[in-house]
Formats: sequence, C-alpha cells, structure tokens
Amino acid sequence: MSVLIVFLVIAVFTVVIVGMVVHMVAFGSVFWLIARKVSDAAEAQKPKPCEFCGGTLLPEATACDACGAPRDPKQVAARSTSQNSAR
Ligand SMILES: [Zn+2]
Repeated sequence: MSVLIVFLVIAVFTVVIVGMVVHMVAFGSVFWLIARKVSDAAEAQKPKPCEFCGGTLLPEATACDACGAPRDPKQVAARSTSQNSAR
C-alpha cells in the first residue's frame, strides 16, 4: 500500500515539475520575443549614418539630408531595377 502512495506522490511531483518547466519555457519565450521587439524598436529609433555620405540619418527621415540618398538601400536597388525594366 505504501508503494502505491510513493508512486502517486512521485507521479504528482512529476506532473507538477513538468508543468512548471512547460510554463517557464512558454512564458520565457514570450518575454524573450517582447524584449527582442522592444530592442528592435529602440534600434530603429536611433539615428544611423548615411550609407553614401556618412552623414547622420534621423530615424524619421526617409532620405539623407546631406546627399539626398534614400534611407533604405533596398529602395535604391528596387528603383534602379524598375528604371532598367521600364526602358
Ligand atoms: Zn547621405
């Protein structure tokens, strides 16, 4: 009879511990995702150097104040390829 009680206690502990681990992993990944989103947003708010002239690009600027280059080099590539296909 005592063996059955010990087995039951071990089973309950196992379920509780597995449940705790599952919750820790689930909440941990959610918090990690939130922290990464916050850090990405903070990174996007920082002024960054212009890739063409090295001047400061403000976070709200879509193009460089100094040389007029677009903020995102991908936009330049997309624009040049669309101009080439238009010709
Ligand atoms: Zn520039």
